[in-house]
Amino acid sequence: MDEGAGRSVELTIPCASCGSIELLAHTMMCASCVKERIVLARVPDTMQYMQCRGCSHIETPRQGWQVMEEEALWSHLIETHLELDADVTNPVIGWKVTPLDNRNHRIDITISAHFGPFALETDVRTLARSSMGSCEACSRKSGNYFEATVQIRSTGRELEVEEIDDMMVHLREMVLKKDRDPMWFITKEGEVKGGYDIVVGSKTLARQYVMKLIAEYGGTSRESHTIVGRREGEDVTRATIVYRHPGMSAGDVLEDGNQRLWRINRMTQKGAEMLAVDRHQRRGMVWNELERLVVVAQQRTIKRVDVLRRDEGAIDFLDPHRWEVVTIAKPWDDDGGENVAVVLIDVEWVALPEVNVHADLR
Ligand SMILES: [Zn+2]
Ligand SMILES: [Zn+2]
Repeated sequence: MDEGAGRSVELTIPCASCGSIELLAHTMMCASCVKERIVLARVPDTMQYMQCRGCSHIETPRQGWQVMEEEALWSHLIETHLELDADVTNPVIGWKVTPLDNRNHRIDITISAHFGPFALETDVRTLARSSMGSCEACSRKSGNYFEATVQIRSTGRELEVEEIDDMMVHLREMVLKKDRDPMWFITKEGEVKGGYDIVVGSKTLARQYVMKLIAEYGGTSRESHTIVGRREGEDVTRATIVYRHPGMSAGDVLEDGNQRLWRINRMTQKGAEMLAVDRHQRRGMVWNELERLVVVAQQRTIKRVDVLRRDEGAIDFLDPHRWEVVTIAKPWDDDGGENVAVVLIDVEWVALPEVNVHADLR
């Protein structure tokens, strides 16, 4: 037939499936045939995931082991299992979860979407099923795996049990944090001669913990490595980090190798500023030097006593333990004030120079 220019022609095509003449999708099918013959969404009967026996971590397809809230788990499982027809557009997916038992949850999924010009809705049903496993971190943990050892040591004196407990609180908080690296666990810990050793699953954990200790208590650290093998052409190493707690703070009294007493005026970045107890002398000591001194009295054991009488070189005061008058040499910085700081070293009272911080004022 000859169709001249300018003449309008109405094209009418029947549905490829039922032959009815109405609005068709690009597949040449009418709305009711699309509903009948096109599968908008498919989902397998079950969607598997694994739960770690040792911790709450969950393993899902493509994501490995991790902490996962239930809502995120369902959403991820649906996202990785639900298949929509390639011609579906603007899908809106909703679901309802019904727990069946410990391992199974029924999930009813509703999909609203467009297929060509038609708005359609469909439901599919599936089961989310968990099985028990052991994540990498938990298998390593139960195999006594470790990457690093933190050795807590101290300068000047032994640490008290309460001080160690206090330091361990920080580490326990770190390994209990919800979104931590799963390798952040304590393999072993215990008292050793001169300190406390902690064996952990991760070098990063060890380093961050020691950084925290330094920020909180001061002190220094030193890290060393041991090669324990090779994996994929790389050395596998274990780290040992020695954390040296200062064991001392401003106001403490220390004895050096020549039996001379020093009082800490203040702690510094490199060590401490020290005041000699027996004469007018002030000098800085670095950690290396401080490590050779012994703390003979901590600030909290220092007493402040009233001066009953003073002369050129001595003061009298009442021994706070035995209620007897004691005479001792004046501190070199005596300013004639009402009271003086004293400390009992072995069995003798010693008057102390005042420290910068006046931390001993009670
Ligand atoms: Zn049709
Ligand atoms: Zn685990």
